[in-house]
Amino acid sequence: MTTNAHHIVCTACGAVNRVPAGKALGQGHCGSCKAFLAGKVPVDVDGKILDRLLARDEGSFLLDVWAPWCGPCRMMGPSYAEAANHFAGNLRFLKLNSEAHPNAAARLQVRGIPALFLFQAGRVIDQRSGVQTAPMLTQWIESVNILNPSA
Ligand SMILES: [Zn+2]
Repeated sequence: MTTNAHHIVCTACGAVNRVPAGKALGQGHCGSCKAFLAGKVPVDVDGKILDRLLARDEGSFLLDVWAPWCGPCRMMGPSYAEAANHFAGNLRFLKLNSEAHPNAAARLQVRGIPALFLFQAGRVIDQRSGVQTAPMLTQWIESVNILNPSA
């Protein structure tokens, strides 16, 4: 990544934070609401936060588009959480409920769920659909090499 500071959107409140390059996101808190910038558990986002991320965020994150009625999505939940814990602080794991936020899901042109999108600096750089196990997620993320800067 670059050597300058990154703009990182807080997934809790949408505030834009400046994070020095080389500093792990997992150690940082939002200057506005004090939430972790990248925690160890998946975070639910709505259309408004997603818009902020796409417009302003310069880091990387994984987005799981799911719905409560989707059995395979619920089945993948624990694997997603396990992978989030594995990458603790180095990659943000976000979830978008497509039933609650249909416009945001439509904007991503989601055809089937679960759908996974890897974002970097507001752009989709890779995507997958269908149930993924934790090892599959880990392998995929490591192969794409988009981890947020860490130490
Ligand atoms: Zn915040």
